[in-house]
Amino acid sequence: MTDHLELKAYGKINLGLDVVRKREDGYHEVRMIMQTVSLYDKIVVDKSGRQGIRTETSLPYVPDGEGNLAYRAAKLLLDEFQITEGVEIRIKKCIPVAAGMAGGSTDAAAVLVGINRMFDLGLTRRELMARGLKLGADVPYCILRGTALSEGIGEVLTELPAAPRCHVVLAKPQVSVSTKAVYGKLKVAELKKEEHPDIDGMVKAIQKRDLDGVTARLGNVLETITIPEHPEIGTIKKILLDHGAGGALMSGSGPTVFGIFKSREAAEEACGYLKEAENGRLTRQVYLTSFFNRKSAR
Ligand code: ATP
Repeated sequence: MTDHLELKAYGKINLGLDVVRKREDGYHEVRMIMQTVSLYDKIVVDKSGRQGIRTETSLPYVPDGEGNLAYRAAKLLLDEFQITEGVEIRIKKCIPVAAGMAGGSTDAAAVLVGINRMFDLGLTRRELMARGLKLGADVPYCILRGTALSEGIGEVLTELPAAPRCHVVLAKPQVSVSTKAVYGKLKVAELKKEEHPDIDGMVKAIQKRDLDGVTARLGNVLETITIPEHPEIGTIKKILLDHGAGGALMSGSGPTVFGIFKSREAAEEACGYLKEAENGRLTRQVYLTSFFNRKSAR
């Protein structure tokens, strides 16, 4: 048992995001190719002499306390195992917020893993994933990490081999987007056939370690909602492609855009350009990252 933990909560992008149908209970059934990236929030968890859970985040607009998914993750396990000791959770946010990168979900996932270790609860990864689903559809994946096919409402996960190595530029425009609002506007029945990405083809390309096959199949049905509302997403995609990206796509419900590069120099150049574009007004955050796979995550 330990009194102090330092955790890395990695962000994700979607190489593919398809919505298959809206269920009667209002949830959307999805087929998504999930990919962890090397950008992470830093989370410190300490046991505390004071009872209860305290959270502190590095950004004023991310809620503390019950509004924070990391708090709810700690509470879920502490309540279940009737642990009365207090914990303090400090989160240094690096993953763009409300940006389609599962920032809150991955913080919750890291805290579930951390509390399990800190209090020697003995839960397996699958058992943690089942509890994570109570906090959010992306939380089980954030515990699994790496490259995966996500189906159902996000809880049916199939591990895939690590996607081919490459450089990934992440660019978050100034706006933030609510995932719930984007899904609310999506009319699945009205989507044209060609607006659905080729998820099965993407799975095969990953299995063949074919990076060109992956970039050729990047696709996200939620772009049909978010891009018309925020045209700067389209502008950023074009800049990435003009700078040599093999493909560029919006992640999740947006607005973060990523570009996939074979050449590190080209990726660095694209980052530099995006940081300066429109006198720095086009983007809020720009990062040069890579895919992060399950082996390196252990
Ligand atoms: P997803 O891709 O899972 O839909 P997202 O990346 O679009 O999520 P988040 O960064 O998780 O969005 O933020 C969504 C909202 O969740 C924020 O506006 C914030 O109020 C709330 N939130 C709660 N806990 C956290 C956290 N630990 N980090 C970031 N946001 C959090």
